[in-house]
Amino acid sequence: MDRVPNYIGGRWTGFAAGEVSPVVNPATAEVLGVVASDGSAEAAAAVEAAAAAFPAWRAVPPGERIQYLFKLKTLLEDNFDAIARIVTTENGKTLAESRGELRRGIENVEVACGIPTLMQGYNLEDIARGIDETMVRQPLGVVGVVTPFNFPVMIPLWFMPYAIACGNTLVLKPSEKVPLAMRAMFELIEQLDLPRGVVNLVNGGKGAVDTLLEHPDVRAVSFVGSTPVAKYVYAQGARRGKRVQCQGGAKNHVVVMPDADFETTTRIVSDSAFGCAGQRCLAVAAAVTVGEAHDIFREAIVDIAGSLKVGCGLDDGVQMGPVITAQSRARIEGAIAGGAGEGANPVLDGRGAKVAGYASGNFVGPTVLDGVSPASALATTEIFGPVLSLTPAATLDEALAVIARNPYGNASSIFTAGGAAARKFRNETTTGNVGVNIGVAAPMAYFPFSGWKDSFMGVMHGQGRDAVEFYTDKKVIVERWPKEWSRKF
Ligand code: NAD
Repeated sequence: MDRVPNYIGGRWTGFAAGEVSPVVNPATAEVLGVVASDGSAEAAAAVEAAAAAFPAWRAVPPGERIQYLFKLKTLLEDNFDAIARIVTTENGKTLAESRGELRRGIENVEVACGIPTLMQGYNLEDIARGIDETMVRQPLGVVGVVTPFNFPVMIPLWFMPYAIACGNTLVLKPSEKVPLAMRAMFELIEQLDLPRGVVNLVNGGKGAVDTLLEHPDVRAVSFVGSTPVAKYVYAQGARRGKRVQCQGGAKNHVVVMPDADFETTTRIVSDSAFGCAGQRCLAVAAAVTVGEAHDIFREAIVDIAGSLKVGCGLDDGVQMGPVITAQSRARIEGAIAGGAGEGANPVLDGRGAKVAGYASGNFVGPTVLDGVSPASALATTEIFGPVLSLTPAATLDEALAVIARNPYGNASSIFTAGGAAARKFRNETTTGNVGVNIGVAAPMAYFPFSGWKDSFMGVMHGQGRDAVEFYTDKKVIVERWPKEWSRKF
């Protein structure tokens, strides 16, 4: 059995005897390896390695620090397809989707190469006579990064390049369900000849996360995952005076206006709802159809969703892979049954999906539930599977109210040909990422990933300038150098 190792202080290391969690291919149920279920001792060792590396790393000039990132970008490009295949094998998404996430991840490496500019402070001469004031940004120290299963490569790259380019050292704890992509990436990182301990990889579960939250040498924690865990991490980190940013779960809405172009809208919404088997934090979970849009949209989306080819993500022509675990499949099918029990009509029902040749895969077919009440449990619970709810609304104001009452605020989109409706929507919608005729409003690497409400806890978001703010402390220096104190030359 492949015991997936850790990378601590520049060395691959095993883990202590004890309980292990299996890493399972969700299309075949093949066990690909095991990781430590806990990982707390290993996380403590990683923090110590990172703390030891920090003083020397912060002294490396930013222009030298980014040279490692230029090399990492080249290595990621050279190994692009191999890493994408690993992502598909452990996560289940299609190869095209794995390539897509790797591309978005690499874009963060590229943006972090701008650190010598991004990290600059500012200054003003003569704030009073003969006194100057300067603000510089300095790294924090050791930072912890905890990531979810659904983007095994991209989400670690929302944080890691910025953290180390700013001069911090880092401990990454990926999801125990998908540790293999990060193992592959750290095999590339090993080739960078970074000073030992600058980046560390620890596999494990709650024990490893708790160690990062408790260890006094960890100054900041970046977390992405479900809202209950995000709230826990935020509270535990803050309790100990750490800087914490937590991106949580989601329930994203699209508003379909009667003047939308239905052909384009349905194609884009279908990709958003069913791409990555609905396991994207920006996946559309609910379509709010305004006025006569409802019937046209319902018919078109059922048509297109029903035609999607479900199967193993490595196979040609497959458009939607399995969900991550058998437990997820059972939970998603339970949510569909619960929705039907609350009065929603499953106009396309993906429960019990079978894929020839993959009898043990965790497949759920695309599902469309019509007539979902905004007050129902289905409407307010994150399903995180290929399930789209349809909720009719009489007006755009009513549609905006549906979004406003939802506890999550990750993303929302409007599909319309009308500028006034689009403008009202972008101004009034209560989510942090907003699309206008866009299905997955994913901010590019140089913009912040801006969830709101229960989808985000913190101030500074991941990516871009927010990441630089998050991973640095500001130091403000006020200086006086009276002429009379200087020797005359
Ligand atoms: P999860 O919350 O189960 O796990 C995320 C991380 O937290 C993992 O590394 C896991 O080991 C750790 N963890 C789990 N339980 C813990 C506990 N009790 N204490 C401490 N650590 C714990 O999330 P997941 O199932 O891996 O990922 C899916 C979730 O992530 C969805 O809710 C999705 O919406 C969310 N997500 C959000 C974003 C975003 O940007 N807002 C992006 C991707 C995924």
